[in-house]
Order: sequence, then C-alpha cells, then structure tokens
Amino acid sequence: MAGLTGRCLCGAVAYGLTGKPARTTICCCRFCQRATGGAQLILPVAPMSDFHLTRGGAASYTHVSEGSGKAVHLHFCRDCSTRLYMTYARWPDMVGLFGGTLDNPTVVRFDPTTTKQIFVSSARPGTVVLATIPACWDHAARRDGQPEQAFILDRSTVVDELERPG
Ligand SMILES: [Zn+2]
Ligand SMILES: [Zn+2]
Repeated sequence: MAGLTGRCLCGAVAYGLTGKPARTTICCCRFCQRATGGAQLILPVAPMSDFHLTRGGAASYTHVSEGSGKAVHLHFCRDCSTRLYMTYARWPDMVGLFGGTLDNPTVVRFDPTTTKQIFVSSARPGTVVLATIPACWDHAARRDGQPEQAFILDRSTVVDELERPG
C-alpha cells in the first residue's frame, strides 16, 4: 500500500507515511489557530516509525505548552515556512501531521471511531462542529489521562448555536 504523502507549499520538503494514521484530531484551540493561521487544525496522528521525510529537511521551533508544560516541536520548511508536522516531548513515538499538507486530503476520513473534535470552547465564531464525531469542550483527556466526556451531535452545528452544559 502506498500510504500517504505530503509536502510544503514550495515543495522543498516532502514526507511519506506508511500505513494509515492511527487517529485524527480536529483541534480548535488557540495554539492551533495561531500555528495554522486558520480556524482549526486537522491533525492525523501516526506512529513515528511510519513517518519519513522523502525530500529536504525541516527546521523546527519548540513551543512549551502552557497547559501541560511539555515541549511541542513544530517542523516547518525554512524556505516557504509551511508547517508540516509536530512531534511531542510527551509522546516521543508519535507524529502529528498538519493535514493541509497532504497531497490528497481526502484520504483522511473523519471516522467517528478514530476522530475527535477538541477545544470546541475556543472555536472561532462560525466554526462547524461535525455530526457523529465525538467532540470535547476542551482536552480529549484530563491531566491524569482519563478521557473527558465527549458529546456527539446528530446534525453538524455552528459552534455559536451550541451551549456548554453545566
Ligand atoms: Zn517549502
Ligand atoms: Zn490545538
């Protein structure tokens, strides 16, 4: 199986992934808004052992998360500044892809069993929370690793129309 491929805007850096991502996070947090310049980050996550650069090399920027206090490394093209992937001090065996860099974005399907929408509470007005995909107001998991209670919508809904319970 060919797996997934992706690249930066200018093409100096390209990557490949053998197999499929283990899961996908759709994140609306402020970190992801700033890092992408968009409303949300679509982040397929895969084992690091499945990931390889096929062209060029990426520069990196290390950001210490205000929430966890742990380092997140953003890997980007030094020519065109596109962010391609993230690695984590907390999960050294995993890589998160900036989904917009995939050559064929349609290969990452939002399967309800492997996809989560998180930080809905930070979503900018007009962001759509997708039906059938578990969603969390903040993190998907608490600090102690226990999963947060997720909600699942029957119909895709603009975040402005949702009311946080409690
Ligand atoms: Zn580039
Ligand atoms: Zn985020």
